[in-house]
Amino acid sequence: MRVGIIGGGLMGTTIAWLLTQAGHQVTIIEQGNDLGGLNGDLDFEDGLTVARYQHAILPTDQAVQDLCARLGLQDDLIFQNARTGFVHERQIYPMTNIRDFLVFPLINLRDRFRLGNTIIQARNRKDWLVLDSIPVRQWLVNMCGQSAFEQIWRPLLEAKFDGVYDQVAATYVWAWLNRMSGIRQGPTMQGTIGYLRGGHGSLIQKLAEAITDAGGQILLNTRVREIELVNGHAGRVRTFDTTLDFDAVVAAIATPTFSRLIPSAESSYLRRLESSTYLGLICPVMVLNHPLSPYWTLNLTDAESPFSTVISTPHPVNPNYHVVYLPRYTAPDNDWMGVSDDEIREAWLAHLKLIFPAFNESWIEHFAVSRSRYVEPIFNIHMLETMPAVQTPYAGLYLANTAQVYPDLPTSESAIVHAGRVAQIVRQGKPVSERVTVP
Ligand SMILES: Cc1cc2nc3c(=O)[nH]c(=O)nc-3n(C[C@H](O)[C@H](O)[C@H](O)COP(=O)(O)OP(=O)(O)OC[C@H]3O[C@@H](n4cnc5c(N)ncnc54)[C@H](O)[C@@H]3O)c2cc1C
Repeated sequence: MRVGIIGGGLMGTTIAWLLTQAGHQVTIIEQGNDLGGLNGDLDFEDGLTVARYQHAILPTDQAVQDLCARLGLQDDLIFQNARTGFVHERQIYPMTNIRDFLVFPLINLRDRFRLGNTIIQARNRKDWLVLDSIPVRQWLVNMCGQSAFEQIWRPLLEAKFDGVYDQVAATYVWAWLNRMSGIRQGPTMQGTIGYLRGGHGSLIQKLAEAITDAGGQILLNTRVREIELVNGHAGRVRTFDTTLDFDAVVAAIATPTFSRLIPSAESSYLRRLESSTYLGLICPVMVLNHPLSPYWTLNLTDAESPFSTVISTPHPVNPNYHVVYLPRYTAPDNDWMGVSDDEIREAWLAHLKLIFPAFNESWIEHFAVSRSRYVEPIFNIHMLETMPAVQTPYAGLYLANTAQVYPDLPTSESAIVHAGRVAQIVRQGKPVSERVTVP
């Protein structure tokens, strides 16, 4: 079968690899000048490469680790202790192990107990279906109480959803608490995270090599502008330069992008797709010649901060360098997207200096701003009713993206697991069970 895969992010590349392994003739069509999408790299003029967005592998990310092993990258997986914390009113409060939690000063002892109880209950809870119809705020206030919600959860949700989380389902925090519990190991609940020695870019590179070795084709700098739908069937893909014919087409792209590629689809289907909303992201990355912070992640509760998190890691290849990410998630109508890189640099660094007074701009070797309009689907209440299916109403046309991994979080781990499901559906040519799975 000739299969066209639109989008060469981790999802599209993994589906392509699985289908080439099964003997299909695969072509990836990617608009960027490299594969990877959100998992892609930034190349600086002096030859230094950094991940465009920071990616960590959790000890519980089994699909990522299995894929690395199958591609011969198992020895490049490195796990290490990770310190985490909060920044509240410009003060750093560690939250790395159980001891930090027990003395955490931002909430009182009773609320700390309720917060700990919420974490334990979320970990033990398997019947997440009921949470699909409960707004996250309502669930958290019930579980932790109003003051822990105001002190801890509200600032985190405000930052994550750019203030717009009224409709977000309780499944979000349930899934997040479950995933984060995978970081904490041992009796002290010390945080551990992993990374690939060559970054996630090395995983994408290995997949690309395996795809081309098996006869697959990769078209870069090629943007799809339409998927033709004729008599309820898809197969022809129009790019800006050419027309390509396939037996099956997998759109491994965000739902709003997909709906723009099928203007002749039934209006009811397009309306369903359009109900899918996404967060965007602005993320300055700095390469420093001096460490900024001993914390891997610091979450900020300060409402006036232009960024929500400070992520600091040594450069995975060159230990003389330290890579710092300062992400800000953006709601669909947020206007930060149009702000210039220079203005972003000024606003972001001004706030960073309030948290790290010793920080000096002479430490900066490289500074770049990445922007993506569709980075993360927003899982609102009743998501089960609105989630777009892999199998579209058009024969031979499939949609594959992280809006379909619900209730799991849209991570690299869930993208790889979902890629396996999609490859199976495409191979069978008809829907197999698309049932969402409880982790
Ligand atoms: C800041 C950030 C940090 C993250 N950190 C982690 C982490 O620590 N751990 C973790 O497990 N996960 C993490 N994730 C999640 C992970 O990156 C995503 O789940 C995963 O990359 C999704 O891959 P994808 O292929 O579905 O989407 P994408 O990477 O968005 O790929 C879509 C591709 O389609 C291409 N495309 C779009 N339109 C067209 C078109 N018309 N024609 C041709 N090509 C097109 C795009 O260029 C892109 O390459 C993070 C995500 C972000 C944004």
